[in-house]
Amino acid sequence: MRERSAQLREEGDEESEQDAAMANRDQREMNEGSLTRLHAHMRGWRGWTVNLPHLPGRRAPSLPHGAPPDTSGRVTSESSRTAAAKLCTDCGLCCNGVLFDQVILQPGDRPQALAALGLRIKKRTYFNQPCVALCGTRCGVYEHRPERCRRFECRQFQQVASGAITAEAAAARIREAQQQVAVVESLLAAIGGSNPRKPLAQRCATALAELTTPEDAARRAELAGAMEQLQNLLTTHFRLM
Ligand code: SF4
Ligand code: SF4
Repeated sequence: MRERSAQLREEGDEESEQDAAMANRDQREMNEGSLTRLHAHMRGWRGWTVNLPHLPGRRAPSLPHGAPPDTSGRVTSESSRTAAAKLCTDCGLCCNGVLFDQVILQPGDRPQALAALGLRIKKRTYFNQPCVALCGTRCGVYEHRPERCRRFECRQFQQVASGAITAEAAAARIREAQQQVAVVESLLAAIGGSNPRKPLAQRCATALAELTTPEDAARRAELAGAMEQLQNLLTTHFRLM
């Protein structure tokens, strides 16, 4: 863990420079770009991800005590929460920059201790996603993760925990989202120059802003369409209203 933390801190220094460069670039784009419909979409994507971490975490409603056995194949009560928690180990969408841009620290969080674990805490109040502690689809600092991470449960999690849907249905929905993320990633890779350490929506916004020539029209439309489809799926099935 110590070696991992040191590595993460080194990467953090490098990222700070990239953050500054990207911020300057974003500012230039804001100054130079025209407010087209496409840009409006892009701001919408970023708004979702930036605003959501400020929402209070919600707990799934518990089932009535002594509820009769469910014969529909849905899991219930204690086992439902266990099944919901298992979803997360193969998901990571709320840590990898797809659902969120940032994680806002809460009063009980200790910024210094989190930084010592390798998290790149900014201004003692937040850290950016994709989270550097994410190992594949699992949290590398799980026992010590911030309060927001402990409290957040996406819609799929909540629905499995309440018995509204099966764990299998939620897992299929997560795979669907991951496949759509992979499509967006492949389009970004084909365009080149996208920084994988930035949130996905931000990377798309930057890439789309750079696809300005008539020859870029087809690729721009393809990327914008794929991102729109992904955002719709995330809004409908993962985000909390
Ligand atoms: S998006 Fe939902 S299922 Fe996926 S890791 Fe986060 S809470 Fe778990
Ligand atoms: S600290 Fe863990 S749970 Fe929180 S965003 Fe990072 S990987 Fe996810």
